[in-house]
This record gives sequence, structure tokens and C-alpha cells, in this order.
Amino acid sequence: ENIEKLNGYLARFRDGGVQNLIAGESRPAASGAIFDTTSPVDESLICPVARGGPEDIDAAAKAATDAFPAWRDLPVAERKKILIRIAEGIEARAEEIALCECWDTGQALRFMSKAALRGAANFRFFADKVASARDGQNLRSPTLMNVTTRVPLGPVGVITPWNTPFMLSTWKIAPALAAGCTVVHKPAEFSPLTARILAEIAHEAGLPAGVWNLVNGFGEDAGRALTEHPKIKAIAFVGESKTGSMIMKQGADTLKRVHFELGGKNPVVVFDDADLDRALDAAIFMIYSLNGERCTSSSRLLVQDTVAEDFEAKLTARVNAIRVGHPLDPETEVGPLIHKVHFDKVTSYFDTARTDGATIAAGGERVGEQGWFVRPTLFTNATNDMRIAQEEIFGPVLTSIRFSTEDEALSIANGTQYGLTGYVWTNDLTRALRFTDKLEAGMIWVNSENVRHLPTPFGGVKASGLGRDGGDWSFEFYMEQKHIGFAL
Ligand code: NAD
Repeated sequence: ENIEKLNGYLARFRDGGVQNLIAGESRPAASGAIFDTTSPVDESLICPVARGGPEDIDAAAKAATDAFPAWRDLPVAERKKILIRIAEGIEARAEEIALCECWDTGQALRFMSKAALRGAANFRFFADKVASARDGQNLRSPTLMNVTTRVPLGPVGVITPWNTPFMLSTWKIAPALAAGCTVVHKPAEFSPLTARILAEIAHEAGLPAGVWNLVNGFGEDAGRALTEHPKIKAIAFVGESKTGSMIMKQGADTLKRVHFELGGKNPVVVFDDADLDRALDAAIFMIYSLNGERCTSSSRLLVQDTVAEDFEAKLTARVNAIRVGHPLDPETEVGPLIHKVHFDKVTSYFDTARTDGATIAAGGERVGEQGWFVRPTLFTNATNDMRIAQEEIFGPVLTSIRFSTEDEALSIANGTQYGLTGYVWTNDLTRALRFTDKLEAGMIWVNSENVRHLPTPFGGVKASGLGRDGGDWSFEFYMEQKHIGFAL
């Protein structure tokens, strides 16, 4: 039934492909170049996509520059109304978004249907914040009335990855628009469908032409041109740490402001006094949902040796029972990985684990002959210096490492280049406070999986990111503080 619906939704892409959207107009790439997007389920062609390059980025940056003054000065109530209409548009097309994204990325529908609605929630949240975006303070001195205010930066670039691409795009673009910035969005080349649907929804909601421009293409040409463009004031980027580093270099000549949400190798630390059944559920959810293609996934399990044997045995049984299958089947928990390139990377770690001397307690193999399916995998007998404990695999693959003391757990948890999230399971409150105080991560949950609350800061430390999103932190990035001193 879902496949029939999907075919209905895909028909328009099969007819016209995915075009760019610049200054409110659907356009092919200026060079006429295209690339194909394929489904990871069976490698079939979905449709051609406009392959934008520097010329298209230039046209989009000009459109965003022209549209900026009017968008910046639009009355707050009008801006808020448009953002709410975008949220309503997403809700109305949530099924189409979820089905297209599952087919394009391989993510299972049971998780993706929620991701579409979270996209709408992001727009509603920032619609409510429009009124306070420009708020400032009065820092009066004996001789001056010192007023601060915030002003939007101007046209900004947003570059997004292929994992939960729809939700992540809304998370970046909604606050940019709420702040009064205009946007050029370059979505990931592996997952272009829902970025196009999203931009259409925005225009149907009454967003003026040029406020939101979409340019598809590859990182090395369209992405690069966006980061180097002099009219683009800032780059909000979500992707790999090494790409973040390249973008920083590319943006140096134009002094680009950057905000990076990068990779992770996040620990879930289970002490023997924890509620072990809840910890087990959460550890499984945080690595095997969304195919493990999730920046906040708990890809390292640190388990105390007093309970490790029993915990790992239960974990192995549960991992072996995870349902791998067609992403549109509501029963499926793990779908195919995004692309052959990524599949080759993830499966290469099966050999790495063997060579390093770890045990493959579950999975460690491909599923079927067609599509990029892998069996959910658990490595045990691992140590923190192994590559499987240090490198971001970004698939349904968990590395379990045992520890005996709290100090040892802390040193393992902090012993990677990354620092995005951490999950700590213990019923000892003092230990939880002590441990989280020293854990190097931007976001930590105690006795909980990752539950996002939109007003809280989102972001990582070390190689996991620069800057924070969420609540008012998003405005700190998309806006400039201005001080005006009035003599008394
Ligand atoms: P990626 O870095 O390969 O690509 C991300 C985007 O950057 C794509 O749109 C790509 O075209 C573009 N790009 C590539 N090279 C570029 C260049 N030189 N200049 C400008 N743009 C360029 O990442 P990916 O493989 O698509 O996504 C997975 C990664 O994203 C993982 O590392 C994951 O942890 C990370 N991620 C982080 C968060 C977070 O919030 N911290 C969220 C989701 C994903």
C-alpha cells in the first residue's frame, strides 16, 4: 500500500526531475548538468537532479541578497504567519515527505514519519520566537543610555547531510528565516527529494521569491562555491568533521561566520547500579534506530565489568532480533544504508574489528544481494584504542568496551577526538553529577536516551562542532549584536 502511494508521489519527480529553485523559479543547472539519485533499496534510478555549480550559487546568492531588505523589514506578525503556514504545509504533506525520504535514504518509515512532523515543530517553535528575535537590553552607564539590539546577518548558506535530511534542513532554515535572514540551501547529493518538497512548501506558504533558494549539487562545486561566495555572510553546516575543516578554510578569504554540527563517537556509560533493563532499551534505540546513521547515536557502549557479561548477552539476543527490511514496511526497524559508498565504508569495519582482535557478537555481514542492507552489528571484547572505538562508523554498529572503575569509564568516554553527546546510566546521584561534570560532550542525558527539547542548546565540543543551535542560541548565530550609546 505504501509503495503504491510512493509511486504516486514520485511521478512528478520522474517526469521533471529535481530542479533548483532560485528567485522563486524552478530552474535546471545553468550548465545543463544533472546527476542521478537512486534508491538504496534496489539501486533503481529515482530521477535526475540539477547539478548546480558556481553560476547557480551566484544567481541564488544574488536573489537572496535582493530579497533580504524586504524580508528583514517585514512586520513580525507577517513573518510569524508565513512560518506557521510552512509548518501547516509540512503537516499536510507529512506522508509524502516521509515516504519520499525513506525511498531516497533507506531510513525506516516507523522513525521517518516522526521526523517529518518534527520538521513542522521546528517551524512552529521558531515562529513563536520571531517576536523576540530583535530584543536587546539597556546597559545604562552614568553618562550613557547603552542600548543593545540584534539585527539579522543577511543572506546565509545552509549545507546539510543525507541523514534525516528533511528534519535537519528545517532545524537550520527555520531559525534563519525567523531571524530575518535569507537563505541559499545546498542539500546533500544523496538525498535531494525532500529538500525540494520543503522549498516548494515554503513558497506555497507565501514566502517571497528569493528568500529561500535551493541549489542542488556536489560538495566540491556547489558546496564550495557557496562557502566562498562574498555575498553569503555565514555558513550553517551539518556533516562530517573533515568537511567542516575544509569549509573553514574555504570561507577564510571572505571571513565567513561558521556554525558546525559534526561527527560523533558518543558513549553510553552503564554502571552496575543502574536500571539495567531501561539502559538496555535505550542503548539499543540510540544506535539501531535510524540505521545508526545519526550524529547523536550511542556508538560506544561502556559497561561496568560486574554486569557486563549478562548485559552483553541480553544485548546480543536483542540485536539478533532486530528486523531488517524494506524501509516502507511499518515493521522494519533497520533499512538499507544510504549508498554503496557508505555501505563499503560501514562493512569495511567488520574486517577491521577482526584484525584488531575484537569479537563480532552479532551481525557483521550483508543482508541479501540487492540494495545496501547490513545486519545490525555488535562488537565485543573491544578496547578504546581500536579503530572501531575511535572512528565514526555511522551505521547500525555498536562497539562494547568494559570498564571497572568510574575513573576508567571517564577516561575511555573522553578518549576520542569527538564530544557530541554522552548517555550515563546510574542511580547514584553524586556519581552522576561528578561524572557529567567531567564528561567532554556538548549534550548529556542521565538515565535517558536523547530526548530533544527545542529551547535547549544543541551542539558538540572537540571535533564534534562549533557553536550551538536551539532556542535563542540559533539567533546568536544568525544575528549580529549591535550597541548604540545615547549621551544623557
Ligand atoms: P559530508 O560532510 O560528507 O556532507 C555534508 C554536506 O556537505 C553535503 O551537502 C555535501 O555535499 C557538502 N560538502 C561536501 N564537501 C564540501 C565542501 N568542500 N564544501 C562545501 N560543502 C561540502 O557529511 P555526510 O556524509 O552527508 O553526513 C554524515 C555526517 O554528518 C556524519 O559525520 C554525522 O555525524 C554528521 N552529522 C552531524 C550532526 C550534528 O548535529 N552534529 C547531525 C547530522 C549529521
